Amino acid sequence: MARLIFLGPPGAGKGTQASTIAQLLGIPHISTGEILRSAVAQQTELGLKAKEYMDRGELVPDDLILSIVNERLALDDVSSGWILDGFPRNVGQADFLDQLLADLNQSCDHAVNLEVPDEVLVKRLLNGGRNRADDTEDVIRTRLEVYHRQTAPLIDFYRDRHKLISVNGNQPIDQVTEEIKNRVQG
Ligand code: AMP
Repeated sequence: MARLIFLGPPGAGKGTQASTIAQLLGIPHISTGEILRSAVAQQTELGLKAKEYMDRGELVPDDLILSIVNERLALDDVSSGWILDGFPRNVGQADFLDQLLADLNQSCDHAVNLEVPDEVLVKRLLNGGRNRADDTEDVIRTRLEVYHRQTAPLIDFYRDRHKLISVNGNQPIDQVTEEIKNRVQG
């Protein structure tokens, strides 16, 4: 049983690591970004509302995200644990999550932060071949700026709660996975 939050800037390898670790531990990988991209592709009401923010590299308004997470954590498969990837993204969302988990009689075990220098992130995102609509240079700069302003404060938020695990994300993918695995299980 593990309940993990994956923090980290865009391009840090958060999605890849969250997916691998979720498989290893046999728990659902919940990526708010993926849920949103699929809503955009299906042109649902949520997708239509979220698209303009995502295209600009800005955060989608909290009310949309909070209802996604609320509904997702109400499904049965979360009884074995979960990984939240890309949520929370600001202090308001983190406060909401604390409250939601308290209502569900749960709490998160660790917040895993992948550390990668900005210049490496920009290079990775530009050359990464992910073929994502928001991987263009202007949008990448906005996403990094939004990360530093709104999401990075969560590092202290979880450190203060003794939940933070910081991992060097600027090393080969397998080594990052190994380090995360050892630290969350240790
Ligand atoms: P990601 O796949 O996590 O990089 O997310 C892609 C985009 O989806 C972000 O740039 C935001 O526009 C949006 N998004 C994903 N998760 C959140 C969240 N927790 N809060 C607000 N916007 C989000």
